[in-house]
Amino acid sequence: MYIVQIASECAPVIKAGGLGDVVYGLSRELEVRGHAVEIVLPKYDCMRYDHIWGLHVAYENLMVPWYDGAVCCTVHCGWVHGRLCFFIEPHSEDNFFNRGCYYGALDDHLRFAFFSKAALEFLQQTNKRPDIIHCHDWQTGLVPVLLFEIYKYHGMEYQRVCYTIHNFKHQGIAGTNVLWATGLNNESYYFQYDRLQDNFNPFALNFMKGGIVYANFVTTVSPHHAWEAHYGEFGYGLGHTLDTHQGKFTGILNGIDYEVWNPEIDRYIPYNYTQDDLSEKLKNKKALRERLWLSHDDKPLICYIGRLDDQKGVHLVHHAIYYAMHRNAQFVLLGSATEPGINNWFWHEKGFLDQNPDVHLELGFNEELSHLIYAGADMIVVPSNYEPCGLTQVISLRYGTVPIVRGVGGLVNTVFDRDYDQLHQPEERNGYVFYQTDQQALESAMDRAIGLWQHYPEEFQQLAKQGMECDYSWNHPGTDYLQIYDFIRHR
Ligand code: ADP
Repeated sequence: MYIVQIASECAPVIKAGGLGDVVYGLSRELEVRGHAVEIVLPKYDCMRYDHIWGLHVAYENLMVPWYDGAVCCTVHCGWVHGRLCFFIEPHSEDNFFNRGCYYGALDDHLRFAFFSKAALEFLQQTNKRPDIIHCHDWQTGLVPVLLFEIYKYHGMEYQRVCYTIHNFKHQGIAGTNVLWATGLNNESYYFQYDRLQDNFNPFALNFMKGGIVYANFVTTVSPHHAWEAHYGEFGYGLGHTLDTHQGKFTGILNGIDYEVWNPEIDRYIPYNYTQDDLSEKLKNKKALRERLWLSHDDKPLICYIGRLDDQKGVHLVHHAIYYAMHRNAQFVLLGSATEPGINNWFWHEKGFLDQNPDVHLELGFNEELSHLIYAGADMIVVPSNYEPCGLTQVISLRYGTVPIVRGVGGLVNTVFDRDYDQLHQPEERNGYVFYQTDQQALESAMDRAIGLWQHYPEEFQQLAKQGMECDYSWNHPGTDYLQIYDFIRHR
């Protein structure tokens, strides 16, 4: 099969979170199985150019219709750790992708509407006719809309779209100008409840809703979150739309790429190790402590890696730092906040805790350091308010770092409580789960984990090993996605 991924991220060249990991990992899995995969991305000024090999101009003067005129684009091509990627660079005063950041601009809806249009225009003009176009999140929600309303009539009638939602909270809300910019025009047609009209604001268009309505198949990133989004509050207003389209909606658990996330071969950690020899993991703990100026006492080391925002249960993350100290454990945090209030809060905490030999807060995005933390920590906390899939707990399991998670979304599908899980045999359990959002719930799960580490070290090691044995590679999800592709291709 010939598959084109259209996305706003692809790790490690463009990565703000799990979306980047998924686009890269799934593409690699599909290629390993013999399929042809290409990835279309924006050419951001701030992406990691050091992760692109052989970057060159692939196509010049790609004229992308935009409002009454057209924007001239250059398409660059290069390999990101073996994946063939095309980067779209528009030349216009809007400077869509030269903003020093991936997201967060006031005109994001126009930036990504333009990207979606340009990606299809590129396929159309270069005669690329993939069997499947796989697009992701609100940024590319307009791809199936544009394909089936415009490009279908320009030689792309056989292309089929799989649309994956990684985060329902951000849906891409816009006004009529997007219709005029992209050439969809016809306001009264799109502003209908069964098309792109937002479910709550009748004067707004919703990109993600467009994706759900128009795509041939819609997935989200774990089975439990598919249920939550459909029947619970985590569809953020799209539950009814999912219900209408339930016949083409499912949840597929994300995998992780075991070539990238694998303590046996990881190039970013000083000591590679397997589950048969966890003493090498201990050496990474020592290296991590040395790097972050932490003391070398006989204490468990707990970490948090991830965005610092409301979704991630940031108040509980904060509480975990102090509770770890209270329980004679160490804490390392690697995270970044886009919201100024949270950012200031954690910078203040960092200043306050800077000389503390048991705590280190690293504020910013640091891919390399994240590997060392996964390898060096004993436990990770993931106290999310909601979590579509969550990759940090899955990566931690691979590194023998025991997850302490809140039982929501994909965390439910991946972490099974050592003491209380009813559905898995003791030897299949791999971490600790709590359910409420209050501090006591977190504390009780941390207590159990720290208690095991302190008083039953061999059993703690056994738990870590059981986590390492879980298979959260792309093996199963790769098969699931291929089944979906096959299904929609023949319709
Ligand atoms: P998200 O909601 O952000 O997509 P996920 O758990 O699905 O959360 O994926 C997070 C990914 O981003 C993981 O690969 C994690 O290691 C990485 N990550 C998050 N924050 C940072 C950071 N500050 N520095 C390095 N990597 C990070």
